[in-house]
Amino acid sequence: MNMGNSKVWTLVLLLAVLAGVVYYYMAGLQRRSGIFFENEDQSVPVEITIKDPEFHLVAPDHLKYKQPSLVQGRSDVVTVTPWLAPVVWEGTFDPSLLDSVYRLKNISVAVTVFAVGKYTRFLPDFLKTAEQHFFLGFRVRLYVFTDQPDKVPKVSMAKGRQVMVRLVPISKRWQEISARRMELIQTLIEAELQSNTDYIFCLDVDSKFHGRWGTESLGSLVAVIHPGYYTTPRTGLPYERRPQSRAYVAHGEGDFYYCGGAFGGILQEVYLLAKTCRTNFEADAKDGIEAAWQEESHLNRFMWINKPSKVLSPEYLWQDFKAITPEIHIIRFSGVTKNYADIRPN
Ligand code: UDP
Ligand code: MN
Repeated sequence: MNMGNSKVWTLVLLLAVLAGVVYYYMAGLQRRSGIFFENEDQSVPVEITIKDPEFHLVAPDHLKYKQPSLVQGRSDVVTVTPWLAPVVWEGTFDPSLLDSVYRLKNISVAVTVFAVGKYTRFLPDFLKTAEQHFFLGFRVRLYVFTDQPDKVPKVSMAKGRQVMVRLVPISKRWQEISARRMELIQTLIEAELQSNTDYIFCLDVDSKFHGRWGTESLGSLVAVIHPGYYTTPRTGLPYERRPQSRAYVAHGEGDFYYCGGAFGGILQEVYLLAKTCRTNFEADAKDGIEAAWQEESHLNRFMWINKPSKVLSPEYLWQDFKAITPEIHIIRFSGVTKNYADIRPN
């Protein structure tokens, strides 16, 4: 072996060591960045499946729609919360753009609605108007929870949309019926929805749709502002004010007052909401305390701590007896006026 040869060999050896060091470093980087998960044999990278349908919004190419403006828009109402969640009002979104985005995802939406005792009388209008206004052109399953399945009307539904009936026992107190909803929502998500549903909305049956309720309402955790209190100062909001209750919201706290009659989001979030409200409601009951507005109080407590990622304006749950106000350009969903003495069991 002459001197020239040994130099070449040293160089080759050095290069090999360098390559090894670089490879080891890069592999470490890759592991730390979490871009790749390695499977059992530690070599082939596998893809991550992301279940959250909110992630990655893609619009179809060449979609034509009105140019968005940064200086013009609704100026009579607040359209974003202090934690930067959008507040949805008519005139703040482009329905066809949003529909195109969510169409590509082929989303499916579940609705829960309870019709126990005399409340079955609200089903025909609820179901009929849902078919006219709620997520038109999308896959929708309406889960009706009732003690009288024979009272669920046959409503003709478009393709990909259906009514599912689930039997529940009747309760003697309306507070119990209303409160058990959280438990049944939790069980439904666990037992049936996990594999086939992206979003869920939980709605009061004593209401009707009057206008579009669609993809603009989608979000991880979605709350609706109560129409009765959207200009009320904090001190006047009807939160549960007794510290003994798990629904307690102290004076000087709370963002908005949200409806118990409409809320939603992706399954994971609504599951956590239902489970939390149910657990707290039951623990309160053991201590002999019932929050001022039952599960609505617990929902408000939940939303104070777990900020909704999207807030729907009172367009999304008006009340028929309320005179319309100038900021309401459209009523999408509204509670019908009812005679409590006539329909509640107590
Ligand atoms: N509910 C029911 N049967 C009852 C009482 C209540 O099915 O006897 C359900 C129904 O879905 C109703 C919801 O619980 O929409 C909430 O009750 P309610 O609408 O009476 O409360 P409000 O909107 O008047 O506060
Ligand atoms: Mn109601």
